Amino acid sequence: MNKKNISLTNIQRFSLHDGPGIRTTVFLKGCGLRCPWCANPENLYGHEEKFFDAESLAHELLKDKIFYQSDPPGGVTFSGGEALLQAENLVPVFEIMKREKIHMTVETCLYVPEKNLRLAIEYIDLFFVDVKILKRDSAARVLQGNLDLYLKNFELLANKRTIIIRVPVIGGFTDCEENRALIKNFLARYKNAISKIELLKEHNLGAAKYKKLGLPVPDYKGVSDELMQKYFQELSD
Ligand code: SF4
Repeated sequence: MNKKNISLTNIQRFSLHDGPGIRTTVFLKGCGLRCPWCANPENLYGHEEKFFDAESLAHELLKDKIFYQSDPPGGVTFSGGEALLQAENLVPVFEIMKREKIHMTVETCLYVPEKNLRLAIEYIDLFFVDVKILKRDSAARVLQGNLDLYLKNFELLANKRTIIIRVPVIGGFTDCEENRALIKNFLARYKNAISKIELLKEHNLGAAKYKKLGLPVPDYKGVSDELMQKYFQELSD
């Protein structure tokens, strides 16, 4: 990847679920994790990729400025893949958005170098952070990620910004009692920094994309509504 380029797969306009108001969401390419249930495999594999420089991406995003003036005010969401892997190249975009007073949100798994997170903290208004697996060996084996990096970044972010938590509930991967208890205790420790917890019941949303990319379709179990209810209750107690 050319260092000066910003690599992405899609710019989605009129998004209503990636932060407050009407938003334009940028799906950045690349991620350090390999969640078996990933719904956006095109951001990890394959050649589906568009390159922008910071100025041209900012220009694209400003085309929707009128829609950001919704009630509540909308803005731009950086998603992926893992948006913060390209934080350095995105800084000029962040600066332009800031100058234009446009609200910015990031969806992140936090498995990124600390310096990237520090850059984002300077500009980003709201962070959506995933909490997936908190058992060290499972995080390494299933996600292929370094849990210490995640924990350190979470601590840094929680001391600086308000966070909305997203917990993917995936049968056979994240839904066991032990992981639920670890997540409950972890979130309780940071309750002052967390404004909302969203439990996400995952479906095989990415199946068609895996087929298109010639990859094996992920095979994971669904979870029952009863379990979702129970988990919700556990986190509320
Ligand atoms: S963190 Fe998100 S983008 Fe990365 S592999 Fe997991 S689900 Fe996919």
